[in-house]
Amino acid sequence: MSNRTFTMIKPDATSKGYTGAILDQIIKSGFSIKALKWTKLTPAQAGEFYAVHKERPFYGELVDYMSSGPIIAAILEKDNAVADFRKLIGATNPAQAEEGTIRKKFATSIAENAVHGSDSDENAMIEGDFFFSKLERF
Ligand code: ATP
Ligand code: MG
Repeated sequence: MSNRTFTMIKPDATSKGYTGAILDQIIKSGFSIKALKWTKLTPAQAGEFYAVHKERPFYGELVDYMSSGPIIAAILEKDNAVADFRKLIGATNPAQAEEGTIRKKFATSIAENAVHGSDSDENAMIEGDFFFSKLERF
């Protein structure tokens, strides 16, 4: 069990003005921010980040969406960070997400679902390294 995870606030949420509310909920849920960046992915970068989904039917749609507008990338710290953060964001499909979760409150659809959360300690490391240099984290 590691104490770090990685998140993105996705383009649907940043464009609707939910960035502040989502960060507020993350912090109030006990996560501390160890690195933070406001940026925009190129289609090539979005494709690389989600390469694990290359064979899925929604891959093209996912890459277009994730490069369609600005995102927030962040490294978060808390005990049991990966599992607790997945719980905080809720199910991939907001229609199935529990009441009070970030996706239930802020997501638009299964595709445009407001936030990303790492699914394992290993991927949290890989994803954090994708966005942040040593200088940008502590
Ligand atoms: P994320 O990895 O972004 O935290 P997740 O782990 O809940 O989400 P994944 O199965 O890893 O879900 O899917 C990655 C992303 O691909 C989803 O968050 C969503 O944006 C998109 N996606 C997943 N399933 C579908 C689908 N059936 N149709 C369209 N887009 C989808
Ligand atoms: Mg995932």
